[in-house]
Amino acid sequence: MTNNTEALVLRFVDYGESDRIVHLLTPDRGRVAAIAKGARRSQKRFPGTLDIFNHLKIQLNRRSSSGMQRLEGAKLLNLFPPVRRDLGCFGLACYLIEMLDRAAPEGGGARDHERLFDFALDALSSLVAGRVDRSLRVLYELRALACLGFKPELDSCVRCGVPECGQLSPYFLVSEGGTLCAPCRRPQDAATALSRGTVRMLSRSLTMPIGSLSRLSMGGKMLEEADRAIRNFQRFYLGLELRSQQFVDRLS
Ligand SMILES: [Zn+2]
Repeated sequence: MTNNTEALVLRFVDYGESDRIVHLLTPDRGRVAAIAKGARRSQKRFPGTLDIFNHLKIQLNRRSSSGMQRLEGAKLLNLFPPVRRDLGCFGLACYLIEMLDRAAPEGGGARDHERLFDFALDALSSLVAGRVDRSLRVLYELRALACLGFKPELDSCVRCGVPECGQLSPYFLVSEGGTLCAPCRRPQDAATALSRGTVRMLSRSLTMPIGSLSRLSMGGKMLEEADRAIRNFQRFYLGLELRSQQFVDRLS
């Protein structure tokens, strides 16, 4: 059965004489691995398409008995030019793609796949040369986590539910999924302090269009706090050490 869908290329490996195995993110089935037979020979079926970051229209054939699907053809929709030209955009795109490749589910609910796919396309389309920094990396990481089903609670206390964590300086408690108000904090909690401004900034970033995130700039203490909180949250729930993170931060 052939299925026409869209896909983002997460990574590929060349196989045998002329085949290529591609790992794709799709809006209907999440992460999919497929073999493109003769891909390195056929300019007709795969005209320069099977490269990392590319957004494609594809034909997938599910009949393969090996479990691996067969990619019958692909047409390029977008290759995100700034990602190919600007080192900052390239670094952030690598970071996003690495995270999706390691954390995007295979199978499961179609609506979740669609939300994640839309996020990935929006994020890659929004990259503008010269406007990528560590602050944007943290905000993209938070949005990716939310799309993957791991959205931290930032609008109320995870224990008492009081909105905006009362009027006292909040804490962030990764193991319970979000902000904690000062009166609820017990001495044994491994909670880190998070200033109210940082909590508000992160909360706001969750509801903004992806393309507007580069206008939110965090620096100094706010960036340090936000980066530590979101990174610890990601490690706790997804357990990823992303190689491209240091690359992005060094460029910033
Ligand atoms: Zn509380």
